[in-house]
Formats: sequence, structure tokens, C-alpha cells
Amino acid sequence: MVQLSEGANRICGEAAFEVLAKAQELERQGKSVLHFEIGEPDMETPGNIAKAGIQAIQNKKTHYVPSIGLLELRKAVQYEVEKTRGYRPDLEQIIIIPGLKPGIFFSMLATVNPGDEVIYQDPGYPTYGSVTSFLGAKGVMVPLLEENEFRMDPDDIREKITGNTRLIIVNSPQNPTGSVMTKSEMEDIAEIAEEYDVYVVSDEIYSKMTYETSHHTPTARDEAKERTVLLDGFSKYYAMTGWRLGFMVTPCKMAERIQDFLVSAISCTAAFTQWAGVEALTGDQGFISDMMARFKEKRNRIIKGLNSIPQFSCQTPKGAFYAFPNIIETGMNSKECADHLLYNAGVAVLPGTAFGPYGEGYLRFSYATTLENIDAAVERIKESFK
Ligand code: PMP
Repeated sequence: MVQLSEGANRICGEAAFEVLAKAQELERQGKSVLHFEIGEPDMETPGNIAKAGIQAIQNKKTHYVPSIGLLELRKAVQYEVEKTRGYRPDLEQIIIIPGLKPGIFFSMLATVNPGDEVIYQDPGYPTYGSVTSFLGAKGVMVPLLEENEFRMDPDDIREKITGNTRLIIVNSPQNPTGSVMTKSEMEDIAEIAEEYDVYVVSDEIYSKMTYETSHHTPTARDEAKERTVLLDGFSKYYAMTGWRLGFMVTPCKMAERIQDFLVSAISCTAAFTQWAGVEALTGDQGFISDMMARFKEKRNRIIKGLNSIPQFSCQTPKGAFYAFPNIIETGMNSKECADHLLYNAGVAVLPGTAFGPYGEGYLRFSYATTLENIDAAVERIKESFK
């Protein structure tokens, strides 16, 4: 019988979409479900950005553009990186992509061979592991522990790195734990990468979404010129998940290869989306501070609520919009507990194990919802344990 490729059988989906489908099935049956499973802001794209996109379509910005991206947007990204990361990349290092995710895929395609080892966080964003196995490489997980506020410990990287390690992937602020790495931890990681001559891909999709602390990047050390890759995008902090717009800053040699991947896979990112991106970066930034003030209120409300559930305990995350409560006291495992909440409380959440084995004993709540839904979910959960 005709067979699919081996790689096709190794690539994996994402639990968030599976839980959403189950929740929607319950809703079709007339049940009420409060949604905490999907990781996207509950706000609409700011009007000025949407308008710039619409105007671009009306102005016939609907054709192919260079695969590396519009010069206007790449210049805006250059200034943005200088402002937020403290270095000014060369324009040749900057590539526009349709969402951050293709940046993960293409930077891994450009650096990882079958048999290589890739180090990443566990629990962590599932795409890293999925692409690692697709490439026939070996995933080496660094556990994120509650006692270390779920931050990646550079000493653990030192312990796990070998002659076969090709790439370290870092994500901060982190999905699913909301942890934020410190400046010195990021510097240590960049230093280890230099010492062992490996690449670092830094997924910074939540870079503007920190509460009390600042965001730091491991790419500051070599300014993404040698071995580090900065990935960021518009999805989360400009509420543009559906527009599909992100950017990467890579060493020039890698940028040349990635351009060819882009040509082969997607030709280019939609022109009108890129014009919306120019407005996002150069227009009024008030939306982000308003959104973060609202998220902070939601964070405080959900953390207080989760900690009022006798079987749960939850640290206060410093970034993103995820809470990651410890549910060991329920006596259930993560999957059982997530199913229990969905079917008996009408609260859709993800099991921690959707993000790796070290997620066992935890759940992920995306608190991008209303305060009323947060309060209602906490009450429903308490009730379900009675
Ligand atoms: N990286 C992380 C850590 C994420 O949480 C997400 C979104 N869930 C992405 C990347 C994907 O971003 P985009 O939608 O821009 O492709």
C-alpha cells in the first residue's frame, strides 16, 4: 500500500485545538462551557491597524512582494529591535513571516540534521518537539520546576548539552507557565551556546507581555549575527492572531537560506497584512499598555480564585496570559482533571501534559477572558469537587 513519509507520521498536532473541538461539541449539545483553552487575546485588533490593512487592500497592495518582506516593515522591525532589545540588526538579517510559527519551522529546518539533539523547555510549546521529531532529531527536555518559578535553569542546559546538541530553544515569557527568564539567565544561555558552538532560537512572541519584570533576550550577546535567532510577531500583543504576521532576525548566512525556504513554501507574506504591521509598529502603542493593565487585573483575579480552591495551588505568573496551577491534591492526573473540569464543571482547560511530561500535575488556564468568566469558572470548579 502507498505510504506517507516517515516525517509525516512523526509531526504532531496541538491539544488546544482538540479540547476546543470537544468543548464545542458539548456546546452543540446545549451545555455551557467557559473557555480557558485557547491562547489568544480576547480583544479585537486595534482600529488603526485594521484600517491600515483595509486601506492597503483598497490601494491594491494585493500582489506578490519580495519573499524576505516589505522594506518598509523590515525597517520598522529594525527600529523596533533597536528600541526593545538594545541592538540594531542589519536589514539583511530581518525576515518577515506569516506568524511566528513558520519562524520556528524554518529556523529548525535551517539548523537541525537528523540525529542531532535539540534542547527545549518541558513543559513547553508543543511545536518545538513536533518539528524536532519531524526532522528525525532527538528532543532533550530541560524541566521547568515550580520551585524555580518555572524558569529554565542554565545549569540544567550545561548538564544536558552534548557534542550532538545543535540547537537550544528558549521561550520567555513562557507558554504554558507564564514564567519570565532573568537577564543573567539569558546571558548564561547565550554564553553556553557560544562555548559549545550551538544555535539558540528565542521565541519571544509574548515579549511585550510582562507584568512586574522586563523582557530579556539571549540574542543581545551576538546581536543575532552568529548563532542566535530572534523570533517575535504581532499575534499576541497587537491582537492579530488571524492576520498571520511575524518576523525573524537571524545571522545573514541563515537568512539567505531561509529566504529560499520561503520562496519554496509560501512565496511571501500577504502584502496588506505587512502594511497593517507597519502601522502596528509605528502607530500609537497605547493599546498594549491598556491590554496589559486589563490582563494584570485578570491575572490577579484568577490567581486569587485558583488559590481559593482547596485542591489547587498556583504561583503568580510574571508574563503572558496563562496560569499554571498545581492540581496534585485533586488525586487526579492532569488529563483526568482537565476532563473532569470539562465534563463536570463546563470549564475547558488544557492538561499540563499537553506541553510535555513535566507538565504532569498541572493545568493550563488561558485567562484571556472576562472577569465574570473567571469568577464563574472558579465557582464551578469548587462545586465540581464537592
Ligand atoms: N510561540 C509560542 C510560545 C506561542 O504560544 C504561540 C501561540 N500560541 C506561537 C509561537 C505561535 O504564534 P503565531 O500565531 O504568531 O504563529
